[in-house]
Amino acid sequence: MPTDLTLYNSLTRKKEVFHPLVPGHVGLYVCGPTVYNPVHLGNCRTFVSFDIIYRYLMAKGYKVRYVRNITDVGHLTDDGEDRMSKGARLEQLEPMEVAQKFSNQFHDMMRTFNALPPSIEPRATGHIIEQIDMVREIIENGYAYEVNGSVYFDVEAYNNANEERYGELSGRRIEELMAESRELKSQGEKRSPSDFAIWMKASDDHILRWDSPWGAGFPGWHLECSAMSTKYLGRDFDIHGGGNDLKFPHHENEIAQNVGACHHAGARYWLHTNMLLMNGKKMSKSDGNTITPEELFTGDSEHVSEGYAPMVVRFFMLQTHYRSTMDLSEEALQAAKKGYTRLLEAWDSLQDMEGAGGAQNGTVGKELAAGLAAAYAEMDDDFNTPKAMARIFELVTRINALKGGQLSLEEVSAEGLESFRDGLGTLLWNVLGLKAEAATGGAEQEALDRVMEIVLELRQQARADKDWALSDKLRDALTEAGITVKDGKEGATWSL
Ligand code: AMP
Ligand code: ZN
Repeated sequence: MPTDLTLYNSLTRKKEVFHPLVPGHVGLYVCGPTVYNPVHLGNCRTFVSFDIIYRYLMAKGYKVRYVRNITDVGHLTDDGEDRMSKGARLEQLEPMEVAQKFSNQFHDMMRTFNALPPSIEPRATGHIIEQIDMVREIIENGYAYEVNGSVYFDVEAYNNANEERYGELSGRRIEELMAESRELKSQGEKRSPSDFAIWMKASDDHILRWDSPWGAGFPGWHLECSAMSTKYLGRDFDIHGGGNDLKFPHHENEIAQNVGACHHAGARYWLHTNMLLMNGKKMSKSDGNTITPEELFTGDSEHVSEGYAPMVVRFFMLQTHYRSTMDLSEEALQAAKKGYTRLLEAWDSLQDMEGAGGAQNGTVGKELAAGLAAAYAEMDDDFNTPKAMARIFELVTRINALKGGQLSLEEVSAEGLESFRDGLGTLLWNVLGLKAEAATGGAEQEALDRVMEIVLELRQQARADKDWALSDKLRDALTEAGITVKDGKEGATWSL
């Protein structure tokens, strides 16, 4: 019996049964990357988590519209510089070149992790008109004011008119915020320290600028997600996600802007992923406690002794629930590599098995079916991938026992085995998004490349010496090993 999908809603701080607004359909919005530097492993953790959520919703039969934006304007550094302009300055490129470069890099990385592309990937700079319209609506409703070409959201006016709802998501109280921001810096043009900019006047040297009713400027970072989620998913939609570092101020301000513009709050369920740590500490560039995805794949880092294949890293990620902190360590990666290899071996063994015939499952067949249903039920419980994995490994033990003869295939019907294989395959490859590729990492690939270089050099030497017997022998041996050698103008190349 399929169970109901329950999920932890950060807005109500409890687990709830998921009911989409329109039966059979789900609108999902996830905050995407700010494309001014390479995507880091922490970002990947969040996007892989939402990839699994997206995949699972589809596996449940929902038609999902998954919107994940690209932030290419308005996200400022602590010093107040636009991240895109900063990236452009450092790389001596046009801001749009920077955005393209790192969007491409991000997409490549998502493919490497086998994360599906979203249904719509809107860019903030492509939605300036929608953002200006939203600022106008918020001003008209009395929740924003203009000062000297910039527009600020009036948190107090909003709070007074909306039952003090500012802070409902993050749990921050306005008094605390006021005290904090008073200590931090002068409030400048703002009427109150808790107000935030929704439109910013562009200084003369600011490159990213657009004309607006308030003069040349650019949108505040939080505004893009309000404008784009409303445009593509409607004033009310189902799920909004992001890392939990975005809860405040980004998501809190999104809700305020949505309600401020049209009296609708946007998402009904908010899902937040937890942060990636390394060796128990926050991953941080300044402490040297960081590793890029590329370094992890090649092993070119002091933090790992070898490279890990992307699917091993994905498998490792599945072993932590999305709401818990994930701790990357050599030990955990080694365990993931072993576990993933064991899983692939069991999957291979399963392909060679045949049931006893007939439709009636015996005891073992029934246990396999029940174990698989239990794994799916764990996914229904707030996408609990580590528990689903534990159930899958109970099944791996049974598959190995069937292979070793400790359990009998006589107890599994042909139909039962077929449907078990289908169901497990769907869970592993479609829902969890794993791929049946070897668990070898970049280091092993590098070693293979080097060995092939040596072999092809030897073959080249044999040809130069007109030792055809040796050169043919090498070629035949490689063919037998599944390696094809092609001779071209530039020398020989090989492929698997
Ligand atoms: P950004 O490009 O900084 O806007 O971040 C893109 C996404 O990655 C957001 O949802 C962040 O919450 C998330 N994120 C950033 N750092 C981490 C981390 N260390 N662990 C997990 N998610 C993160
Ligand atoms: Zn956002």
